[in-house]
Amino acid sequence: MNPRRRSKPIQIGRVTVGGDAPIVVQSMTKTDTRDISSTIDQIRELEDCGCELVRVAVPDREAAGAIAGIKKGVSIPIIADIHFDYRLALMALEAGADGLRLNPGNISQPEQVKKIVQAAQERKVPIRIGVNAGSLPKPKKPKLGIAEQMVAAALEQVKLLESLDFDLIKVSLKAFDVPTTIEAYRSIARKIPYPLHIGVTEAGTPRTGIIRSTVGISTLLYQGIGDTIRVSLTAHPREEVIAGYEILKSLNLRQRGPILVSCPSCGRAEVDIIKLAEAVEKELVKINKPIKVAVMGCVVNGPGEARDADIGIACGKGRAVLFKKGKKIKTIEERDFISALMAEVERF
Ligand code: SF4
Repeated sequence: MNPRRRSKPIQIGRVTVGGDAPIVVQSMTKTDTRDISSTIDQIRELEDCGCELVRVAVPDREAAGAIAGIKKGVSIPIIADIHFDYRLALMALEAGADGLRLNPGNISQPEQVKKIVQAAQERKVPIRIGVNAGSLPKPKKPKLGIAEQMVAAALEQVKLLESLDFDLIKVSLKAFDVPTTIEAYRSIARKIPYPLHIGVTEAGTPRTGIIRSTVGISTLLYQGIGDTIRVSLTAHPREEVIAGYEILKSLNLRQRGPILVSCPSCGRAEVDIIKLAEAVEKELVKINKPIKVAVMGCVVNGPGEARDADIGIACGKGRAVLFKKGKKIKTIEERDFISALMAEVERF
């Protein structure tokens, strides 16, 4: 794994993005931003599962103004997602947004960008230059490929912001196509010192979207690229946050909550491991400590295969061996599988 690219840290409310700060997990609400109480409820749900930054859509003036009310009910920083109308960015700043996301594909007039930058500068609010392959500005050099066009669009806006003495910058270059996304990020990572927000856009429903996002995000993280991530899914945003942490946990970049190790099951298993692992996974959601829990289908290979688990069960016919750090501690009956395992997890 490559060492992490050194980026210039920025501060979004109380959250640091870039530099040595842990890679930040973020998401976006799917409620109507104008509906303040539903948006607060959803953000609180996201906070509960570890979301560290949240973005809200700002389609009109009412949504921009709603940010003030939303901020009163939540504790994580709020980023306003702005397209087309620079005045919405000004209103969102006025309402207390901790960060802005601008799309250079639809707000590019230097005069308008300048007004936003001045207002952001006064409040020390960072701006993400959020390039999206689906809404690119007209390319100046028509022969450029999509990844190159994305990079060129970002660099042009970076230059504009720098010319205004503004460096609270974060950049994203998202495409649906994973190789295009990776190419674009790899290229920009060498050209600018700012933190990168990485993700694959419009990735799809959880079944395919998590795979698509994971391939893109983890390839970049493995190369040391990325300071904050969002897994975009056509699902409740809670799923995005959970998937984000799973990616970071898989690469040993962050620790949060338990890790479930479960065997795939095979002809040797004498209990329904799929059902059991799903039930244990549900129970583990309530646990907040970093602990590795194993659910294995047989006594022959179970404890050995899950040697580095903290707590685990290896099941046989109607009974299971409960083990701790690879060592058997007791035998339990099938009706007690979940309760005995969870009691041990709580005690650990
Ligand atoms: S632990 Fe046992 S049941 Fe599970 S996959 Fe391995 S051999 Fe099969």
